[in-house]
Amino acid sequence: MKVYKFGGASVKDAGGIRNLAKIVSEEKDDMVVVVSAFGKTTNALEQVLKKWLEGDRCYRDYLDNIYSYHASVADDLFSSGNSAREKIDISFAELREYLLSAKKSHYDYDYDQVVSFGELWSTAIVAGYLRESGLSAEWIDIRKSLITDDSYRDANVLWNESQSRIKTVFDFSRSPLFVTQGFIGGTVAGKATTLGREGSDYTAALLASMLEARSVTVWKDVPGLLNADPKWLPDACRLEEISYKEAVEMTFSGAKVIHPKTIKPLHNKNIPLYVKCFIDPSAEGTIVRSDATLKKVMPVFVRKENQILISILPRDFSFVMGDNLSMIFQLFLNNGIKVNLVEASAISLDVCVDDERSRVEVLLEDLDSEYTALYNENVELLTVRHYTPEAITRITSGREVLLEQRTRSTVRFVVRQDPPTPLKGG
Ligand code: ASP
Ligand code: MG
Repeated sequence: MKVYKFGGASVKDAGGIRNLAKIVSEEKDDMVVVVSAFGKTTNALEQVLKKWLEGDRCYRDYLDNIYSYHASVADDLFSSGNSAREKIDISFAELREYLLSAKKSHYDYDYDQVVSFGELWSTAIVAGYLRESGLSAEWIDIRKSLITDDSYRDANVLWNESQSRIKTVFDFSRSPLFVTQGFIGGTVAGKATTLGREGSDYTAALLASMLEARSVTVWKDVPGLLNADPKWLPDACRLEEISYKEAVEMTFSGAKVIHPKTIKPLHNKNIPLYVKCFIDPSAEGTIVRSDATLKKVMPVFVRKENQILISILPRDFSFVMGDNLSMIFQLFLNNGIKVNLVEASAISLDVCVDDERSRVEVLLEDLDSEYTALYNENVELLTVRHYTPEAITRITSGREVLLEQRTRSTVRFVVRQDPPTPLKGG
């Protein structure tokens, strides 16, 4: 069997879903189709949640807009009497009811209860349309099978529990084609959880691994994995074939095309990942697999914006080693801060992290008793794999470099974020 994953951009309107159906109908193998929320629905649901938490009743208008969007896509696709249409109405009513009656709990929990609806709606419509197109597609509520702990908004999958449920639920002797949600899961107690923004790729990889798929294909609006973000470097070109290691390095450094957690489950079972373009399904795309080499070794550029560079120095001038190191990193972990780069010297430690300001502030307070911590905000992390002198000049010239780290294959720079373009005439 194979796993196909369609992201929000590929299912943003009725045309996208017709295209999805065409791509799916051309595949003869048994299949699981993993779908994200339509277009920017996750962002829109975040806004509903925000208003609701503020006690602002205009959250209902925001939700009505999301409803109209889904209803119009469904009405465009379905002839009357498709049961998915009714399912959408029931599901929206359920969320409205929840928002009327639920008490505010903690943010991450509320987030998952509300935002997880986006994937439930998109998959109901996609499955309904596939059935209407004559395919025997079965809709699966993944919250009951992909079981996680209760780390809401960044839930950890409970592997054994999930695997046995997944194997029972996705029974290909019952149906050749299943449609299910990316990004969401559920606790043993039946509460919705989410796996982190853009987490649908990760879901696809988890299901592929648990079901021993032959491959995973992620359908995107770009021609594959590129050697840079074309919004940054417009002459970016497609990578034909890369190794799991290369892909992990790229996504960890900030390449946004696939979610960083996606590669590990695939690597562990040696399942290839295809990144393909849904606008031109016959185009080659990129293959990520174990024995791949970069066919043409070219520099790969990755940029991670919105970073903070924190410099930590022990107040008593002791070395940053052993106990000190483990204590500092424990504080990062406790505060849920992801570390993107570390550079140590005898009595100082530089750490580059995502600028999640509220978390960083607590961290700085925690460090304060034993360490002096200085930080530079508005910085970004630039990574070049397979670097050349020209590649380095290209991205650093005219930039203020605060830190540089070099290995044989990779060079990384922490630079000050480009100032906003000054207004003319000012
Ligand atoms: N819909 C979710 C998001 O936008 C998950 C995903 O797209 O992968 O973050
Ligand atoms: Mg998305």
